[in-house]
Amino acid sequence: MLIDTHVHLDSFPDHEIAAILDRGQEVGVGLVICAGTTVASSVRSVDLSRKFPSFFSGVGVHPMDITTPLVSKDYQTLTGLAEGEKKVIVMSEIGLDYMEGMPDRGWQFPAFREQINIARNMKLPIVFHSREAHKDCFRVLREEKGYEVGGVMHYFQGSLEEAKEVIDMGFYISIARPIFRLPHLQEVVSKIPMENIVIETDSAPQPFKKNRDNWTEPRYLRPITEKIAELKEMDVISVETALFQNTKKLLSEHWDVVEKFVTEI
Ligand SMILES: [Zn+2]
Repeated sequence: MLIDTHVHLDSFPDHEIAAILDRGQEVGVGLVICAGTTVASSVRSVDLSRKFPSFFSGVGVHPMDITTPLVSKDYQTLTGLAEGEKKVIVMSEIGLDYMEGMPDRGWQFPAFREQINIARNMKLPIVFHSREAHKDCFRVLREEKGYEVGGVMHYFQGSLEEAKEVIDMGFYISIARPIFRLPHLQEVVSKIPMENIVIETDSAPQPFKKNRDNWTEPRYLRPITEKIAELKEMDVISVETALFQNTKKLLSEHWDVVEKFVTEI
């Protein structure tokens, strides 16, 4: 069974989510973990986890979406969501984004720090986003003791050195579709231990792609798994088993909640 550790399915209407989950299930994707990007999207994601058995949730505010500084009420809402629903199993999606046009770094830093603290208090693994900000991201995670709960560097596209640093901090490397087009990432995957890898699709609506069939969905975990097997010269079943065990370890504090919905392979 494959687990998509990072999706944004809350951006789809409910009937589409049902169909997307079904298409994933047809190729063995048994469970998805949806990331909140704003307080409102975190609320919706948690609601969806109550509606769909195979849908689990993160809560968090994405650095791109910090259009006004976060205030204590925002942090209280995120904490309340995590306290109120057992299917909230990660702090996601939080981090730093230095791309041009992104929100003021003076707003991003306190939001990242405070959300790491919520994660530690709630024992939620941290799924973090870093764009052009790896050095500061790793530093803040260390300063705020993010390693106490560990987590995932989501949509990893960095170097081998960065992958090693992330692993040393006690975090997993999450591999997504860039594995098909980035030769340096293929090399990273071939060199890092299998036990440090999880997978995701980051699925969200992609209206810029004219053909709806090409939109990224959790079902793409199947070819990603096959690609990892090829790069690591392993058989697909062994890779699938390792990915499952890695995700189980990542979610160990909350595995009792997840276990009811999974059949181990
Ligand atoms: Zn994301």
